[in-house]
Amino acid sequence: MPVVEDGFLVSTSPATGAEAGRLPVSDAEAVGATVDRARTAGAWWASLGFDERKVRLLRWRALLAERIEELAELTRAETGKPLADAIVEATAAIEHIDWAARNAKRVLGPRRTKTRLLVAEHSGHLEYQPYGVIGVIGPWNYPILTPLGPISGALAAGNAVVLKPSEYTPAVGQWLADSFAEVVTEQPVFQTVHGLGDVGAALCRSGVGKVAFTGSTATAKKVMAACAETLTPVVIEAGGKDALIVDADADVTAAAEAAVWGAMTNAGQTCIGIERAYAVAPVYDAFVAAVVEKAGKLRLGEEIGPITMPGQVDIIRRHIDDALASGGRAVLGGADAVQPPNVAPTVLVDVPEDSAAIREETFGPTLTITRVADADEAITKANALPYGLGGAVFGKANGIRIARRLHTGMVAVNSTLSFVGMATLPFGGVGDSGFGRIHGEDGLREFGRAKSITVRRAPSLLPAMTFERTPAQVQRIVKAVKLLYGRRP
Ligand code: NDP
Repeated sequence: MPVVEDGFLVSTSPATGAEAGRLPVSDAEAVGATVDRARTAGAWWASLGFDERKVRLLRWRALLAERIEELAELTRAETGKPLADAIVEATAAIEHIDWAARNAKRVLGPRRTKTRLLVAEHSGHLEYQPYGVIGVIGPWNYPILTPLGPISGALAAGNAVVLKPSEYTPAVGQWLADSFAEVVTEQPVFQTVHGLGDVGAALCRSGVGKVAFTGSTATAKKVMAACAETLTPVVIEAGGKDALIVDADADVTAAAEAAVWGAMTNAGQTCIGIERAYAVAPVYDAFVAAVVEKAGKLRLGEEIGPITMPGQVDIIRRHIDDALASGGRAVLGGADAVQPPNVAPTVLVDVPEDSAAIREETFGPTLTITRVADADEAITKANALPYGLGGAVFGKANGIRIARRLHTGMVAVNSTLSFVGMATLPFGGVGDSGFGRIHGEDGLREFGRAKSITVRRAPSLLPAMTFERTPAQVQRIVKAVKLLYGRRP
C-alpha cells in the first residue's frame, strides 16, 4: 500500500510489503512548472521532424530491449506480478514504440489530398500537428504498457509528455522517463509528476494540449469534468467486463486454454481480461470441465501473483459471495479462494445475469461461465452491459460474424487479448469503457491535430466565395451542381 512520507510517495511490494520505490510528490505548482518545461521541450522535439524523432525513438526502443529484465524486475516489485508477465508486457510496449516511430511520418506527415471538381482551382494539403504537451495518467495494473501506448503515439507525433503514474507504480513510471532521458539528453521531452489523485487532477488543469487517461470509469468522469473547465480534449481508456463466446464448432480445448489465460493472467487485473464466458449448450459441459482442469493447475505465487491493490480484494470477495448467494456455484475456488493478498483461481457457473459478478468489473482471477442456447443469445448477453472494451469468440464458421456484432472496440477470434499486442490495430472501447484510440494509425492521429491548408493554383471557373460573383456565374454554379449531382443513382 503506497504511503506519502515527508513529501515522498513510497510504493511497496504487494507480495512482501518491502519498499519498492520512493519518489518526490509534486504539488499543483510543481505540476505547472513541469508542464511549462515540457512546452519548451515539445517545441524543440517537434522541430526535429519525423526522421530525427524516429532515430531517437528507435534508440530508446533498443535501450528498453537491452534492459527488459531490469524493467520487468522493477514492475514485479511494485505490482507483484510474475516476472514472465512483466516481460510479456514490456515486449508489447517495445513493439508499439517501434511501430509508432516507423509509421508516424506516413500517417501524420504532410500530404496532398485529392481535389474535387467544384473547387478544382485549389490544391488540398493535410498534416497532423502536435498538441505540444500530452498529459498521460496511468493505472497500476500494466504500468509499462498502458502509459507507453499513448506515450509512444504522442512522442512519435512530436509532443512532449508529462506522465502521472499510478501511486502504486511510480518507480516504473520514473524508470521509463529516465530511460528516455538517457537517449534524448537535450530537453526534458518525457517527464513525470508523482502523487495521489490530486496530482492527476492538477495535470488535467495544467494547460496541457490533451490528456490520455487510462483507469477506472469512475475516475474517467472526474478527469473529463476537470478537463472540461479548459476544454482540454481527452482520450479515455476505462474499465471493461469482457466476454468470451464459445460457439458450437469451437475447438473447446483451445477455447479453455485461452479463457484461462484471458481471465487469470496478471491475477485477472487486466482491463481487457475475460470475466464472463458464454458457451453454447452442446459444448458447455466440455468447456467448463476443460477450464476447471486448466485453471486448477495454476499456482499462487507462480503463475498467479497477489492482488496489487488491497481494496480490490474486498470487491472480488463481494462478487464471489454475491454470486454464490444468488444461486451460483463455484466449480473451482469460491469463497475460500480469497486469502489476502492472494485470490486463487475461481470459476463460477449458474450465476444470475443481474449479479455483481456478471455486471461489474471484478479485476480478480475469476471467471463466470454461462450456458446459452446459441450464439445469438450469447451476443445479447455479452452486449447487455454499459461496458464495451474487448472480447473474444471461439468458433469456426461464424467467428468473425459474431465478433462484428459484439458491442466493443476490439475482439479476438480464436484467441484472447491478442489485439493489444498488434501495433497496427487501434485499441479502445465504447460506452463506459471510454472513447478515442491508442495504438495503430488511429492512435497516432489521436495525438496530432488535423491541419488543413488549401492553395490556389488557378482562377476560379465557378467563383462562389466572393462578393464579386455575377448572377450569370451563380446560374453556372446551379447548372454545374445539377450536372454533377442531379442524377439519382
Ligand atoms: P483509477 O481510476 O483509480 O486510477 C487511474 C489513474 O488516475 C491513477 O494514476 C490515479 O492516481 C489517477 N487519478 C485518481 N483520481 C484522479 C483524479 N481525480 N483526477 C485525475 N487523476 C486521478 O484506476 P486504477 O489505477 O485502479 O486502474 C484500474 C482501472 O483501470 C480498471 O478499471 C481497469 O479496467 C482500467 N484499465 C483500463 C485500461 C484500458 O486500456 N482501457 C487498461 C488498464 C486498466 P492514484 O493511483 O494516485 O489514485
